[in-house]
Amino acid sequence: MQGDGSAATAMLGLDGFVLLAVSDHDGEMEQAVETTATAAFCRGCGVVARLHDRRPTWVRDLPAAGRSVTLVWVKRVWRCMEAACSVSTWTETSPAIRSRAGWTERARAEACRRVGQDGHSVAQVAADFGVGWSTAMAAVRDYGTALVDDPDRLVGVAALGVDETAFLAANATHHTMFVTAMVDVATSRLLDVVPGRSGKALTAWVEAQPEQWRQQVRVAALDPFRGYATALRASLPHATRVLDAFHVTRLGFAAVDDVRRRVQHETTGHRGRRDDPLYRIRRVLRRGADNLSDRAWERLLAGLAAGDDGGQIAASWIAAQDLRLLYRCADRAQAQPRMHRWLVHCADSDVPELHRLARTIDSWRPELLAYFDTGGISNGRTEAVNLLIKKIKRIGHGFRNFHNYRLRLLLHCGVDWHNHRPTPLRGGLSR
Ligand SMILES: [Zn+2]
Repeated sequence: MQGDGSAATAMLGLDGFVLLAVSDHDGEMEQAVETTATAAFCRGCGVVARLHDRRPTWVRDLPAAGRSVTLVWVKRVWRCMEAACSVSTWTETSPAIRSRAGWTERARAEACRRVGQDGHSVAQVAADFGVGWSTAMAAVRDYGTALVDDPDRLVGVAALGVDETAFLAANATHHTMFVTAMVDVATSRLLDVVPGRSGKALTAWVEAQPEQWRQQVRVAALDPFRGYATALRASLPHATRVLDAFHVTRLGFAAVDDVRRRVQHETTGHRGRRDDPLYRIRRVLRRGADNLSDRAWERLLAGLAAGDDGGQIAASWIAAQDLRLLYRCADRAQAQPRMHRWLVHCADSDVPELHRLARTIDSWRPELLAYFDTGGISNGRTEAVNLLIKKIKRIGHGFRNFHNYRLRLLLHCGVDWHNHRPTPLRGGLSR
């Protein structure tokens, strides 16, 4: 089929090119194109050049109407006719299709968007475009780095959330590797990730931000890790430090888990088995009491009646529920005495795990109660962190390279794709 001028070229939609012809090859579309540059001047002497030759080059482009597309760019080879000029011939170039590239720049930008915004794997996108994994990853790097490095991305953070998260699970050659993640609590936007889970890593990141940025951060929400608290006190001294409600609640349920495992072992002499009454209610024990159905209540009570000799699990379960309900208090005036009673109650119990939990909570008392001074700021954070962890598990599978991991995480959770079109880095583009 021959292209019919402007309509066909409009369908092509590639600036500086016109469509010459379309053909079908085994269900894939081949589109012959040429540039609109019908005249050229010698870069050496400025004289009008003469068309010397035509040389086709094949590149992958965006799919059209659900079919793979290959462009055949019929390149012009120009010749300078000026005898005194040292330039002889040259081949035309275009920013839309870089020299020696296997695909168009708009295809590379789309590959970046699919990996970043859609969270598709690099392997999947590479297969769809018919290029290799490293070629696709290079496109993600070239187009993604500019988005991630955009300083506007970090603007206007009033509440900073800090959390540790696993980057790489342990295997035979290394321990579980952790990263520290910084989140804008208000928007659930991932700001950055840095290797390690240390106060030092956090301090270095915060101190690398402009003074004005640091002044704007009024609240810092964190998980109960002393290193982060110390780092935030030093690097953001004016910000109110708040313990994240999600993590506090989790500490309470972790204590229930510990008690259940110990009681189970003491009474049965082995670790949890499928038919053990306590093992069977392990998940129900981790849920909020107000989320239990009638049936779940029945299972819970039956499991405790059968396995919780001495009532230690029940005691820790009530303590975990009460700790969780502390966040329902209207204000600090209500929360403070309630927290005090909770601490006394735990300390007076005969459950060692509750003693330990009470000591931990007591050591975080100012940061926990600060929740009530900040309008419950860390509520939104739970979602941000959960979202982040899900994304990490889904797209972070099998990562070895921290820089790729950071780039993909930020492209997925830290870039507002509605405000950004992928544009290439200025300067050196790799293939
Ligand atoms: Zn010349």
